[in-house]
Amino acid sequence: MNLTTLTAENYRNIASARLNFAPGVNLLFGQNAQGKTNALECIYLFARGKSYRGATDENLVRFGEKGFRIGISYRTEKSEQTLEYRYYEGARKRLKNGAPVRLSEMIGQFRAVLFCPEHLSLVKGAPQERRAFLNIAISQCRPIYLGLCDEYNKILENRNCLLKEIQKGFHYDREELFSWTERLSDVAAKIAAYRIRYLEKLAPHAADLLADLSNGREKMALSYESEAEGTNEEEIRESYRRLFDEKTDREIAAGCSLFGVHRDDLEIRINDISARAFASQGQQRSVVLALKLAEGEVCRDETGEYPVFLFDDVMSELDETRRGYVLRETGERQVILTACESGGFDPRAVNMIGVSGGVFTEKPRTEGDLP
Ligand code: ATP
Ligand code: MG
Repeated sequence: MNLTTLTAENYRNIASARLNFAPGVNLLFGQNAQGKTNALECIYLFARGKSYRGATDENLVRFGEKGFRIGISYRTEKSEQTLEYRYYEGARKRLKNGAPVRLSEMIGQFRAVLFCPEHLSLVKGAPQERRAFLNIAISQCRPIYLGLCDEYNKILENRNCLLKEIQKGFHYDREELFSWTERLSDVAAKIAAYRIRYLEKLAPHAADLLADLSNGREKMALSYESEAEGTNEEEIRESYRRLFDEKTDREIAAGCSLFGVHRDDLEIRINDISARAFASQGQQRSVVLALKLAEGEVCRDETGEYPVFLFDDVMSELDETRRGYVLRETGERQVILTACESGGFDPRAVNMIGVSGGVFTEKPRTEGDLP
């Protein structure tokens, strides 16, 4: 899959822009605070459905304006597609090839893998970050998964409200709690089964990539950590039911659900040692890069095409070997990256776009640019 154009009007600091992308490597370069990340955020919004920086649509509107319009054209193996997103004073419109679509119909159309500096804490950060990595990666290949996560969160919220009420001494309706518990166990089992299956596909790619990045020194193993036992949906559902059943008193005392996929984690081990506890800075960078590239490989296995790789400001964090992995031998992969400087990138091989004050300038690939 290749992104061909991005258009934006009144999006963050971009008044009006049209950017053309080439297959292979594309570089958005410019000084700090010029709009490089804004452009990547805008592209990734079509993959994720919302800003990855946690911004509301209102935050994305250019200061002093009332709405924004953004659009992408991308080429798949079969055809050329467009997606548009318009926001004006609280009203939203999403269009696929000119026809209105719901958010759930947009997710999974344009697929991208994002790697930004915040992701460098994936290995040692809170479990929530690793769950978010899994959730986003799975939902792009299996859009139905996103609906399951929404459903889960709603059930969890209701069940927690009920547990809080019981804790405070309100009437204890066992039937009602039982019904929420059954629903939570059902959806939790489905989500956990998706995650386990996804990890089975991700793990071999990630291990191969990390072995390459470390000249064979580092063996990565990934596993799903959960209080619930079992590897398939049925076993996990039964395990959750048992846990909830046995620990109801503890949950009432706590006033919230103590078990469920919102507490699970992705365990990363290198040479059989916990990466979360012991990985060095360099190892963490390699692990995250391997996971991101592996995410792209699974996406290709599942959909037949590579997603677009978006690398925001991580080149300076990567050493020569790791940079080489991103920039060389991209094959069918399209990479869009940002950096403050264009130096160090080969102008014959890279499509360069200068960024200044929200304005994007394409730099033609001419002989004169040769070093
Ligand atoms: P860096 O190299 O520091 O990461 P960048 O080029 O990636 O810089 P961006 O994060 O894209 O910078 O931000 C560019 C500018 O956009 C910032 O100065 C920011 O204040 C501005 N900006 C953010 N949101 C809005 C908005 N809603 N309206 C106008 N400007 C905005
Ligand atoms: Mg930036």
